[in-house]
Amino acid sequence: MRSPVPRFRDVERQASGLQPPQCLPSCHERQSSMWFIKDACGIVCAIITWFLVFFAEFVVLFVMLIPSKNLTYSLVNGTLFNSLAFLALASHFRAMCTDPGAVPKGNATKEYIESLQLKPGQVVYKCPKCCSIKPDRAHHCSVCKRCIRKMDHHCPWVNNCVGENNQKYFVLFTMYICLISLHSLVMVVFHFLNCFEDDWTKCSTFSPPATVILLILLCFEGLLFLIFTSVMFGTQVHSICTDETGIEQLKKEERRWAKKTKWMNMKAVFGHPFSIAWFSPFSTPDHGKADPYQYVV
Ligand SMILES: [Zn+2]
Ligand SMILES: [Zn+2]
Repeated sequence: MRSPVPRFRDVERQASGLQPPQCLPSCHERQSSMWFIKDACGIVCAIITWFLVFFAEFVVLFVMLIPSKNLTYSLVNGTLFNSLAFLALASHFRAMCTDPGAVPKGNATKEYIESLQLKPGQVVYKCPKCCSIKPDRAHHCSVCKRCIRKMDHHCPWVNNCVGENNQKYFVLFTMYICLISLHSLVMVVFHFLNCFEDDWTKCSTFSPPATVILLILLCFEGLLFLIFTSVMFGTQVHSICTDETGIEQLKKEERRWAKKTKWMNMKAVFGHPFSIAWFSPFSTPDHGKADPYQYVV
């Protein structure tokens, strides 16, 4: 039976023993121009990611392509590798510096809830940690200290949560890293085959031991990245197609949202209609003008 007045629930029940902080009006929240999480571990991981991409760039260019005698081979592979590496880093930057879908902090005030004009019996979920009205499918992230809409997971490698607004950039980042890893491995194999019986001094500007060490390090990095990003890419595509975030799959949450086709779900993340913009980290997908606050009755 429905109660005559709207009901309020604290979602984080384990924290219910603690008195949640006094909810202040949302106007106290400062609107910063760029989203950036100040988490030491995440910043270190993001720097390592960029460093590893630049290391791969260095080995590919200065050990393999520039000393190569075949100019066409160097130009084609150099252009392809650099373009993919640039897209990977641009995707990483956008995944890191895009608001993943943070819910306004501290908006769970009496005045705000009254202004929503809820129907009798409607249930509003409140996050006791960030004092916000929690939309359906939002989860609180302890690193970002915010509730994030359609939060998939918090990724330290992009120093951000993967949520409704930046999932496209995260998927592109994993895809481009996967492609440059594969490309660099193929080039290393060709380089070894070409230089194995040739004079090593003509194959590289570095000494033979330095060349071998750099190429082995690149192989190791390429293999590691290839495995990690291909698994991540597959998992992300699966969760987009099934419209179920990583957290929802983990918690085996009951589906409360409408089931759509795989293609519709893809368009919801990458934009409508299908175009080359799906593959561009510079194109911001239109996530629709739907009301971000959907309440569970
Ligand atoms: Zn929260
Ligand atoms: Zn987070």
